[in-house]
Amino acid sequence: MRTTTCHGVLLLDGVQRARLRPELSEVIEYRKSGLSVNWIVGCPLDCGYCVRHLFDNFEMKVPRALMDDREAAELLVGHRYFRPHVTPVQLLNRATDPMLPRVKQHTLNMLKLLDVRGLTNHVLVITRWRITPEDCVVLNSLENLKVTVLVTYSGIDDPRVEPVDSAIAVRSLTTAFERADRYRVVLYWRPIVPGLNDSQEHLRRALALSHHAHATVFTGLFFKDQIRDYYRANGLPEPYPDGARLECPRLGGHGIKPRFD
Ligand code: SF4
Repeated sequence: MRTTTCHGVLLLDGVQRARLRPELSEVIEYRKSGLSVNWIVGCPLDCGYCVRHLFDNFEMKVPRALMDDREAAELLVGHRYFRPHVTPVQLLNRATDPMLPRVKQHTLNMLKLLDVRGLTNHVLVITRWRITPEDCVVLNSLENLKVTVLVTYSGIDDPRVEPVDSAIAVRSLTTAFERADRYRVVLYWRPIVPGLNDSQEHLRRALALSHHAHATVFTGLFFKDQIRDYYRANGLPEPYPDGARLECPRLGGHGIKPRFD
């Protein structure tokens, strides 16, 4: 019986697999914006607003693989909605961070597996973790795929909400942007939370960072019930006392957007 993938992230054992919600067992997820490929689950970074709260998976801190990279690549290209050279693809954007030390080799390997097939699809990699110059060499070596790296940066200083130092994202963004040749880099400013990271100073910092990216996107906090419950259980400051909301009130109108236009 196999116990590891070819690069060392352990495969889920039977007990872990049985505990996994069915949504997380689906390696290929159809999204309006393309197909999302999630063959590794688990993350130690502890972001308070993690979407894994919605899947009862927040306590899984050690990444585990549902299958090896090659099997996941086969599933993707064989998916009924996959169109070579057309369908946008997102890698490991649901239940882990694709650039974690134990996960990164799988992310880069998957990119190579798709690239050697001659596929020119647009592929998104979204990370808040470390991007090194060596990673950039691999990204620049891809000959066919159109890769965009989105670096998630929040600028939130409250470690209960955002335990990951935003300086890591700043370094990743500048490292990736300085070396970008065959790929593109997007500053992904999120989540913008009223009172936590929407001050003029936060806006000024994000604006300065936007000069180290080919484009900038930003969005608010997806404050669903399960995330609100986690905030309440842990005494975290609730951003929207009137219930679940997505948008930060300052995103449009006289708020953030005009400053980036
Ligand atoms: S990096 Fe992503 S998967 Fe990991 S805890 Fe933060 S939001 Fe969740």
